[in-house]
Amino acid sequence: MHDTLVIHYDEIALKGRNRGVFERRLLRTVREIARSIAPVEARKSYGRLILTASGETPDLSALASRLCVLPGVRYVLEGVEGPWELDDLLDRVVTVLPEQDAVQTFGVRVKRADKRYPLRSSELERVVGARVLEHRSWGVDLREPDCWLKIEIVNGRVFLCTRRHDGPGGLPTGVSGRGVILLSGGIDSPVAAWMMMTRGMQLSAVHFHSAPYTNRRSQEKVRDLARQLVRYQPVLALTMIPFADPIQQAIITTAPPKYRVILYRRFMMRLAGRAAEESRATCIVTGEALGQVASQTIENMTTVEASAELPVLRPLVGMPKASIIDVARRIDTFHISIEPHDDCCSYLMPRHPATHSTPSELEQAESALDVDGLIEETWASRETEILRFD
Ligand code: ATP
Ligand code: MG
Repeated sequence: MHDTLVIHYDEIALKGRNRGVFERRLLRTVREIARSIAPVEARKSYGRLILTASGETPDLSALASRLCVLPGVRYVLEGVEGPWELDDLLDRVVTVLPEQDAVQTFGVRVKRADKRYPLRSSELERVVGARVLEHRSWGVDLREPDCWLKIEIVNGRVFLCTRRHDGPGGLPTGVSGRGVILLSGGIDSPVAAWMMMTRGMQLSAVHFHSAPYTNRRSQEKVRDLARQLVRYQPVLALTMIPFADPIQQAIITTAPPKYRVILYRRFMMRLAGRAAEESRATCIVTGEALGQVASQTIENMTTVEASAELPVLRPLVGMPKASIIDVARRIDTFHISIEPHDDCCSYLMPRHPATHSTPSELEQAESALDVDGLIEETWASRETEILRFD
């Protein structure tokens, strides 16, 4: 049973003046999550977070699996606190080892952040390794052993860890400002969201739906995707915006069909701008990738972006689809994204959408529309829900 976790965060990010901000943010998120899973005492110490169980259920394995996916976390070690004194420590080591048949190879790694410890890391690794071999007939492998025995000596305390969970690294949520993600039911936008989250951006999400012309499940699907995203950012506001009436209706009846999708996107940008204002976000994030579909040529991206008042970030812009899918699998959104759904843009999709457009052509197409009135009316009928991990 493991009653201690040692969380290591991304070292690159530790350099510079932002270190304190970074650590406090991560600590806050860790405490928030721990509150609902297992009570712990959490504090930072020598470039790590140390969590010790403080409640009646001291096993922190479930908490470790939950915390290791958080942006900013390099890896989480699961273990126990051991005695400082060497003989006692060696006795304790024997009690945390897996059974003989559970693994075939092991390796010992010591990190001595506290230089007061009388043995050097390499010396301690040797004596611990020797003690293990008195009790187990395992092979030694210092590259990829079945079992790592990690010993961390931090601030007068010794931790013996036997399990490691790798995290995504990057920066913890909230250290890089706020953005609004345009979340569709597709594969790309949840990946784009995750990528910005792991760069420290705190997101809120907007989704445009064409209910009642598209089915209910489409909205539920987006909720399911957003629920996956709250594993990485513990609280997420999701705003559902009805797009069919009056915006799409107005576009269909007044504008040339080839511009429909671009016009939809320009209205999305304007509404995302409203959402950004509400959540104090300073940019808009999309899952666009260059050339993936007709609406994602550089000309069309430029034309769409011209209607946005905030910068539009496209973290996937140069990624091949296969790499996007790899990430989608890793963050557990792929299986939801591939369920069939109706997209608001496939609703009344023209046969030949324009692949080239200019802002002035689109301004021309919009001149017959009451843009501000449509935005006001639509914005007033939005619905926002707050999703939390549970
Ligand atoms: P995705 O897989 O993310 O849907 P896609 O390849 O299907 O992307 P498009 O449907 O053209 O591409 O959408 C490009 C981007 O526009 C999406 O990644 C998303 O950020 C945004 N977007 C598209 N439709 C919607 C929608 N209904 N609600 C919110 N955002 C949307
Ligand atoms: Mg889509």
